Amino acid sequence: MQIAFDNSYARLPDRFYATLAPTPVEKPSLIKVNEPLARDLGLDPVALTTPEGLAVLAGNKVPKGASPLAQAYAGHQFGGWVPQLGDGRAVLLGEVIDRHGQRRDIQLKGSGPTPFSRRGDGRAWLGPVLREYVVSEAMQALGIPTTRALAAVATGEPVYRERAFPGAVLTRVASSHIRVGTFQYFAARGDEEALRALTDHAMARHYPQAETPLDLLSAVVAAQARLIAHWMGVGFIHGVMNTDNMSIAGETIDYGPCAFMDAYHPDQVFSSIDRMGRYAYRRQPEIAVWNLAQFATALLPIMGMDHKEAVAVATREVEGFADLFTAAWEEVFAAKLGFARLDEARAALAYDLLARMARGKADFTQVFRSLSGVDPSLARDEFGDQTALDDWLPRWQAHLDEEGTDDATRRARMQAANPAFIPRNHRVEQAIAAAVAGDFTPFERLTLVLATPYTDQPDHADLMAAPAPEEEVPATFCGT
Ligand code: AMP
Ligand code: MG
Repeated sequence: MQIAFDNSYARLPDRFYATLAPTPVEKPSLIKVNEPLARDLGLDPVALTTPEGLAVLAGNKVPKGASPLAQAYAGHQFGGWVPQLGDGRAVLLGEVIDRHGQRRDIQLKGSGPTPFSRRGDGRAWLGPVLREYVVSEAMQALGIPTTRALAAVATGEPVYRERAFPGAVLTRVASSHIRVGTFQYFAARGDEEALRALTDHAMARHYPQAETPLDLLSAVVAAQARLIAHWMGVGFIHGVMNTDNMSIAGETIDYGPCAFMDAYHPDQVFSSIDRMGRYAYRRQPEIAVWNLAQFATALLPIMGMDHKEAVAVATREVEGFADLFTAAWEEVFAAKLGFARLDEARAALAYDLLARMARGKADFTQVFRSLSGVDPSLARDEFGDQTALDDWLPRWQAHLDEEGTDDATRRARMQAANPAFIPRNHRVEQAIAAAVAGDFTPFERLTLVLATPYTDQPDHADLMAAPAPEEEVPATFCGT
């Protein structure tokens, strides 16, 4: 088992992390190795399936060259400040340089207690591990920046939640695990030296063109604006956009109570603990701004300006999110409607469609996929009221004509922007229930189909369909 580690985070000062190895497990068994990702990372996928590979993925053996550690961070959870969080159930094994020259973290999640565990057991059960595997890999296939899943293993040990569940470990890959909360951790301690070191590290790693903390802020604002616009475009609800779950690299991270919407509604919430709807679908852009304001605040002391001036320029940067987000949203929804660009009238058309979908409880994914087909009027079937689109469809067609978009271009554009398949909540839950009972076939089928979400796969039409009323999953739970 040869892994060419180069661990830059471990070279940062001691107070950035706690050094510790994962806690070994009883009787590990392999659930899945992500072979294409392994190759991308320069790892041998076959070696990962050997007893030695399995021991590494389970946390039973620390591979040569690893510098296992749990990262320190803080964060605002549901708006409330928590001065110390940190990796309470994860251990970073180290970093590798992938085939594209990109530095990537390899982390075990569910690997046992750490000094940051507080009262938690440091473990994960099979459900959240499979959920993160399926949804993060689906996100990647949808073309949306995300952490990845390299492997899932069962531990052979029970994990106690509402009852005993089979334990599991996910191997997560990320451009880094640096969060807004990592900056907040040091800012709250008045540790400017650490803030500077973290800023330099993050810039070198993610935004090499950035030279100052303000440049970093600006780059993260832009990356988050694009990311959230992409989430909105596929009906993704993160569910727990705490500042410790917002990545500086601009990747979707921490797949806990997240879900893709079936029927469209802007106020949709899935997370069972989000009672106020703080992280509802439509609130995601403003919550991103709130989080970025916390990031900006953490950077103030090292901006090299007097406080008032620093606040003014940082505020301007964060406020820049609005235009960046709107531009990204318009790009996403232009493609979803087959346009090259959205002007004001076409943006109004998009909003009008969404309003009709909300009223008609239409399935978000199916409406856009139907509109992408040869006969867009089939989208009417998604609405309770068959006439719901009668005056919308001709207006949309008129705009397409006005832009001079021929029908083949429209279809190609739309089918590349409107997935046929998303990881529907009820299918994810069914795959988890089957896996808990020992049958991983539905999980395997889901990952296979979701690897090409923009391709029609008639043999898997059942995975495309919206849930029947009795199949609907109204709430999701945190992945602990
Ligand atoms: P999350 O909900 O995944 O964003 O986690 C929030 C915080 O709780 C992080 O510091 C986690 O490391 C910690 N945490 C979550 N689950 C556990 C667990 N089972 N054991 C220990 N710490 C946990
Ligand atoms: Mg988290």
